[in-house]
Amino acid sequence: MKGNKPLDRDYFKYKDRPKRESDKDFTSCCGLDTSRDILNVKSKHDWELIEDYIEEQLRIYSNTEKITPVSCEVCGRLLEYVCKLKQDKNLWR
Ligand SMILES: [Zn+2]
Repeated sequence: MKGNKPLDRDYFKYKDRPKRESDKDFTSCCGLDTSRDILNVKSKHDWELIEDYIEEQLRIYSNTEKITPVSCEVCGRLLEYVCKLKQDKNLWR
């Protein structure tokens, strides 16, 4: 039955052909496109890149107190960085 369901990009992408195993897909845990190269906190190399990035941000932005690399608890893919800013009013003079 048609209707009563959302038509998204995937709907049109697979409208005229069946979806194959090799087609783009999304992780079931965090909904990220598996074909995208996303930093993963479980990877030693990626973690070093994440550390470098945060260290650099802390160096550049003196009003940033700490940065949390928020990642998927299942697969470890990096979702976002959450910055905690210092509450020091003197920074805003
Ligand atoms: Zn995930």
